[in-house]
Amino acid sequence: MRAWRINWQKIAEKNRSFAPQLLEQNIRRLRLAAPWIPPINLLHIWLFWQQQPESANEALWRQGILATHTGMLVFFSALALTAWYLERRPEQVRLREISVSVAALGALCFAALISAIDQLITSNITPLLIGCTLVALVFLHRPLSALWLFSLTLALFLFGIQQTQSAPAVLLSNQVNGLSSCCIGLLLAWLQWRYFIRINTQEQRLQAQAQLLEEQNHKLSYLAEHDPLSGLLNRRAFSSIVEHELIRSQRTQQPLCLLLLDLDHFKTINDRFGHPLGDAVIKRVAALLSSQVRSLDSLARLGGEEFMLLLPDSNREQGQQVAEKLRQLLQSQLQEVDGVAVTVTVSIGMSYLDAGQSSTYDSLYVASDRALYNAKHAGRNCVKVAVAN
Ligand code: GH3
Ligand code: MG
Ligand code: MG
Repeated sequence: MRAWRINWQKIAEKNRSFAPQLLEQNIRRLRLAAPWIPPINLLHIWLFWQQQPESANEALWRQGILATHTGMLVFFSALALTAWYLERRPEQVRLREISVSVAALGALCFAALISAIDQLITSNITPLLIGCTLVALVFLHRPLSALWLFSLTLALFLFGIQQTQSAPAVLLSNQVNGLSSCCIGLLLAWLQWRYFIRINTQEQRLQAQAQLLEEQNHKLSYLAEHDPLSGLLNRRAFSSIVEHELIRSQRTQQPLCLLLLDLDHFKTINDRFGHPLGDAVIKRVAALLSSQVRSLDSLARLGGEEFMLLLPDSNREQGQQVAEKLRQLLQSQLQEVDGVAVTVTVSIGMSYLDAGQSSTYDSLYVASDRALYNAKHAGRNCVKVAVAN
């Protein structure tokens, strides 16, 4: 019993979650379907107007049909205009809901009424069957509202034919046929509803998968371009940025500098305090360097304890100032990592391009490496400069 109730609640919740799509579909369907009805009403009115009644009963039937079709003409014309207006106004939720309910209920009431009036001269109840089928197929109904709708229609129809059908056998037959028509409507509405839910569930699933895929693509492209330990650019991403910046500096006739940074005696830190602390030092160095560079600069970790920094639009003096500032910053800020007293210094090799000078990434890299080698040989913890070929 409890499991059944939970299941029922789940279904109701799911149905409610599709309410906006349901309303959107119904209002569109109403806008498409409503304009079809008034011309049919006009045709009926014209045809009935031509015919002269041969008996009092027929005259009553004719009047009833004429009045009903005139009512339908006004009703569906107004609905067609309302649907046309509401289709462009998604914020009018309440009015949209009311219009759809009124349209479905109105159509069924007219169908029941015409069938009841028809009983004055015929025994068939075709209008009710057509009405039930159309309302079930044109609109999407939640199962419970469909039950209410078709039950109400049946009640109205049963009451109506009671007034107009005097032959007991025909009355009984039509009561049963009316019940069948309403059941057919209910069944069609339910099948449509199931299809709608299935399609929308699949669509939701597809959307969720597409979003997940997009997030994963995002993550993948981040991983492809970044070093996992420091979060800085990796060598591949950095080299493509440098290639791009070299072309730009050529075009704009701007200088640029390339700095190669290598921590001094880093092996000793690993050996003395372990690799985890070495990793922590690398992270701190990356964070400190990142905090100092401009947004147009590019900073990367090449691997190990080696970093590279590209300074676009910077000449030799500016590059040297930056390098010196970074060297001093690491020396002063990295005296303690994770509660362990350490000595971290950096040697920096710099190469540069004067404004208008052209070169390649490879020759800049070679020059920076040569300068770094000189810095190491000059006793470390210093900045050296080399000219790119
Ligand atoms: P130098 O002053 O000449 O640069 O000496 P060094 O010890 O810094 O240079 P070397 O290239 O001999 O040592 C670099 C060390 O960096 C060796 C390696 O174990 C360590 N290393 C490389 N990658 C990582 C890493 O991801 N984490 C840690 N903790 N250590 C790393
Ligand atoms: Mg090294
Ligand atoms: Mg080193």
